[in-house]
Amino acid sequence: MDNLVRRFRKWRERRRQIKTNNELCQRYPFLIPWHRFTGELSVDRSDWKHPRAIPPYDWSYTELDNMPDGWRNRFGIQMCEEIRDALIEDDDLERYRVVQLKEKYGSMRWYDNGTKIGSRVPMIIDKYSRLSERTCIHCGKPATQITLRWISPYCDDCCPEFGAIPIEEYFMEDEKKDDAGTD
Ligand SMILES: [Zn+2]
Repeated sequence: MDNLVRRFRKWRERRRQIKTNNELCQRYPFLIPWHRFTGELSVDRSDWKHPRAIPPYDWSYTELDNMPDGWRNRFGIQMCEEIRDALIEDDDLERYRVVQLKEKYGSMRWYDNGTKIGSRVPMIIDKYSRLSERTCIHCGKPATQITLRWISPYCDDCCPEFGAIPIEEYFMEDEKKDDAGTD
C-alpha cells in the first residue's frame, strides 16, 4: 500500500513539474534546453501555443533548474520576466537563448547567445548577478554570511557552523583590493 501511495505521489509530482516547465518554456522560450552541439531546441514551437517536446526531452527540466533554489525563489521568475520584456522590445524573444546558467564563486553566471546592440538584457543580468552575491543561496533571504572554502552567500539560519565570515567583511576586503588597484 505504501508503495502505491509513493508511486502516486511521484506521478502527481511529475505531472505538476511537466505542467510548470511547459508553462515556463511557453512564456520564456530562452529557458528551453537545447542540444549544445547541434544548437537545436528540445521543443518544437511551430505551434507556439502548444509547444511539443522533442524526444528524448520530456519537460523534466529547464535551464532555470541550474539556478540555486534560494536565488530562484528570490528573483528567478522576476528576472525572466524582465528579460522577456527587454527581448520583446528588441524583437528578439525567439532567437535569444540561455547557453549556460550556474553559480561560480558565490555569484550567478548567466551566459547567453548574445543580444542586439542597445539591448537592456546585459544590464538586467548584471543587476541580478549582483543581487545573487548578497542572497542566501539556500533559502533566498538576504545573505549575512559567506563561506570561504566554497564561496557561497548564506543567511544566519542556513549558514554552516564553520568556515563562514560576515558578508560585509568579505566585500570590504574586495573593495580594499579594488582601491589598491590590483585585480
Ligand atoms: Zn537562508
